[in-house]
Amino acid sequence: MTTSNDKTLPLIEGYYEEQIIQCMKCGMCQSTCPVYYEDSLETGCARGKLALSEALLHGKLEPNHKIEMIFNKCLLCHACAQACPVGLSPDKVFAAARAEMVKRYDMPWIKSVIYRKLLGQGKLSSLTGAISLANRLKLFSLARSLSIPKMLGKSVERLSFIDLPDIPSRPFMDRFPEVLEPKAKPIGTVGYFVGCAQNSVFQDVAEASVNVLLSLGYRVIIPKGQGCCGFPHYGAGDFETLKQKIAQNSSVFKKHKLDAIIISCATGGSGLKDVYPEITKQDDITTLGAKVYDVSEFLAQKHLKDLKKMMPKNTKEKIKVTYHDACHLNRLQGVASQPRDLLNIMPSYEFVEMENSTKCCGEGGGFTVYYQEISTNVANRKRETIKNTGAKIVALGCPGCRAQISGALKQDGLNIDTRHTVCLLWDEIKKSNGK
Ligand code: SF4
Ligand code: SF4
Ligand code: SF4
Repeated sequence: MTTSNDKTLPLIEGYYEEQIIQCMKCGMCQSTCPVYYEDSLETGCARGKLALSEALLHGKLEPNHKIEMIFNKCLLCHACAQACPVGLSPDKVFAAARAEMVKRYDMPWIKSVIYRKLLGQGKLSSLTGAISLANRLKLFSLARSLSIPKMLGKSVERLSFIDLPDIPSRPFMDRFPEVLEPKAKPIGTVGYFVGCAQNSVFQDVAEASVNVLLSLGYRVIIPKGQGCCGFPHYGAGDFETLKQKIAQNSSVFKKHKLDAIIISCATGGSGLKDVYPEITKQDDITTLGAKVYDVSEFLAQKHLKDLKKMMPKNTKEKIKVTYHDACHLNRLQGVASQPRDLLNIMPSYEFVEMENSTKCCGEGGGFTVYYQEISTNVANRKRETIKNTGAKIVALGCPGCRAQISGALKQDGLNIDTRHTVCLLWDEIKKSNGK
């Protein structure tokens, strides 16, 4: 490990240094930043953190824990990048700066257990086992009702805010074979990247994704040996484990001849499409990334007409549904119209837009642990805009947003369901098939 006396910052030199220097301090990023909105501190927004990065690079400041926490005070939501007239990506600079800090100070033990032991293992099943057991023993709700959170610290307090469904005891990948054939001759072969959340907690999303693809006539391959996407490690500054994840996942997917790689996790998708090529700078990884589609993106772009024909005919009443744009789907992947196109062909639902649908929900991995109050305030703001629509369901495409938004809704006693768009779609297809 590098000592704290080491003044070089190799991870924020080169590309990131150019980004830092190009910031013209215009402040256009301020008004879009959800963190700045909450605390009105310059250190909350991109401009402040870029100025800090510049001071570090030029040796005007020494890295320390206080600075580390400022870099952690970012949701990596990419809103600043969208607002920036120079076209900078400050969130990428901050991820690299976090990596510099991890090199110096390593991670706190709890983060190290989560990122390296649970998410960092080659297999996803250990995470499923741990979460499933805790959920079945009702440890999260017990912790909340006994006010244990404050005694055990912020990590548990955080777990008691988010809302998780009943979790099957076996991971999704143990329940499904590696190759699934459609009923008729396949129209193509797609790979499915499961991701940790779908493999352990939100298995309904993985099941719905695979079933919709099979119904359309695809052979679906769920390559064995795939692991966590590595985005949590990217966000936490653990670039070493991230590189291991990239190598692991790309090698298992490269073994198969695939027309496309489908993923139903917004964050994982942006990791595979954007972070993998950026971190490795390898052509084969870029080529692989070009094959990756978010499930809504793939279905709406390639099969909207086919899916329309698969919808139920006689639906008596329409349930109001609204849609939350996950930052990592809307901003990082440009997927916004596609989920709406899918919702609009489902006869059982009446789609209503919520105000500020693209505003972050406040979920941001480690951010939610370190800056719980800001995270909760951002989530509560999102809850109010959902409430105002009168919708009974919030459709979305990200497991992190789902846990966060569902938690905020439950805390207010609201009976509003949170569903992945593809789950609503699969429900409609089942209804149409009389199931
Ligand atoms: S990525 Fe989001 S939270 Fe972070 S500085 Fe930019 S706008 Fe603010
Ligand atoms: S909008 Fe871009 S150039 Fe302007 S202060 Fe923010 S990061 Fe710098
Ligand atoms: S971002 Fe998605 S795929 Fe990646 S670790 Fe999180 S849940 Fe898993």
